[in-house]
Amino acid sequence: MTFNFDNSYARLPARFYAKLPPAEIPAPRMLRLNHALAARLGLDTEALEGDQGARLLSGQTLPEGAEPLAMAYAGHQFGGWVPRLGDGRAILLGEIIAPDGKRFDLHLKGAGRTPFSRGGDGKAALGPALREYIVSEAMHALGIPTTRALAVIATGEQVMRETPLPGAILVRVASSHIRVGTFQYFLGQRDHEALQILLDHAIARHAPKAAQAENPPLAFLRHVVEKQAALVAQWMQVGFIHGVMNTDNMAVSGETIDYGPCAFMDDYHPETVFSSIDQMGRYAWGNQPPIAHWNLAQLAQCLLPLMPGDKESTLSAAQDAIDRFSNHFQAEWNRRMGAKLGFSDANAEQAGLTRDLLEIMADDGIDYTLAFRRLTGGLQRQDFAEFDSLFTSRERIAAWRKRWLAKLADPAAAGKVMAGANPVYIPRNHRVEQALEAAHQGDMAPFERLIAVLSAPFIEQPGAEEYESPPAPEERILATYCGT
Ligand code: AMP
Ligand code: MG
Repeated sequence: MTFNFDNSYARLPARFYAKLPPAEIPAPRMLRLNHALAARLGLDTEALEGDQGARLLSGQTLPEGAEPLAMAYAGHQFGGWVPRLGDGRAILLGEIIAPDGKRFDLHLKGAGRTPFSRGGDGKAALGPALREYIVSEAMHALGIPTTRALAVIATGEQVMRETPLPGAILVRVASSHIRVGTFQYFLGQRDHEALQILLDHAIARHAPKAAQAENPPLAFLRHVVEKQAALVAQWMQVGFIHGVMNTDNMAVSGETIDYGPCAFMDDYHPETVFSSIDQMGRYAWGNQPPIAHWNLAQLAQCLLPLMPGDKESTLSAAQDAIDRFSNHFQAEWNRRMGAKLGFSDANAEQAGLTRDLLEIMADDGIDYTLAFRRLTGGLQRQDFAEFDSLFTSRERIAAWRKRWLAKLADPAAAGKVMAGANPVYIPRNHRVEQALEAAHQGDMAPFERLIAVLSAPFIEQPGAEEYESPPAPEERILATYCGT
């Protein structure tokens, strides 16, 4: 079994990380291997199944060429500065070069204590590991840039949370784990030399064209701004709420990272929050664009010292780059929300239709995913009875529908656009919880079934109707927890 490692991060200076192997665990057992992803990485899926795979992917037997390390980073958590966070419960095993030449970090979450663990135990519980598997793979299937889940391995030990819980390791794959907080770590130490090394490394991995720019840090900043604006618009298109958009949880690759208390919203309301630790609604669904903007301003701070030119002109160039976030986001939002209504090109009129529909949905408390999907089905069948029946404001929605239909030049083509923009299946919180509960009883079947349904979110699957429906009142999940 060989992994095609090329560990570029491990070659950076020693102050970027702490080198150490994953902790020993009593009884690694493969609970779920992602065969499609393993094949994508050029790994031998047969050999990874079973005990040998569990030992390799939990770092008990280090694969040849692995150089395990915990990355250093800082971050703003809920707006408060923390100068030293780092991988407190995760180990980067190495970087795999896939058969197509792409580079992927192989990262073990829940791999034991590191010099960055502070008071934590470095471990992960089974529930949150499976949860990250479900949601990150669902995001991938929805076409949203994200870290992915290669495997979940049971450790055979208990971890102490409020009660003892079975322990697990999530094997995560990402195009990198460089965060806004990684830059902030070195800015906090006024280590401009390290900032330059990190920037060069990040540019080589994520924005190679920026290397040729007149002002590479500025070009890189613009690149990350565009990626994040597009990412947040994609989240919002499907009703995703990240839940902990701290700067240490924002990857410069533009991938969604760190699935903690994230959730998909059921009833539409822009102020929806699930995370039990987000009392102020800082990371509410509708607040995600300004928060991303704020995080990017923190990244700009880190890049300022690296920009050529006098202070005043670099400051105004950086300010301009960050301020473009709003335009990029608005354009992506219009495009993506437009597609949900069947428009393939965005314009102001269509933005008004989106705004008005969302307003009615908020007033009536309508399920976000179901409403757009029924609108899609209604257009395809030319019968909107099912869509209309969701609403209590019947006259308002009928008037809106009339306005909308009048703007659709080609309803058949619009129906196709909508079918590709409005998922049938999202990882609804109550289904996720049911799958995790069954897994705790040793029954992985509901987890497997959920994963299978979510792998084709835009296609109606006979027999999967129950995964479409919003929760019944007694099934509603009101809060999510971080506790990995
Ligand atoms: P998160 O909120 O998951 O982004 O984590 C924030 C910080 O807390 C990171 O530095 C994590 O490594 C650290 N952390 C979270 N859980 C643990 C744990 N069980 N043991 C050690 N460190 C942890
Ligand atoms: Mg984190």
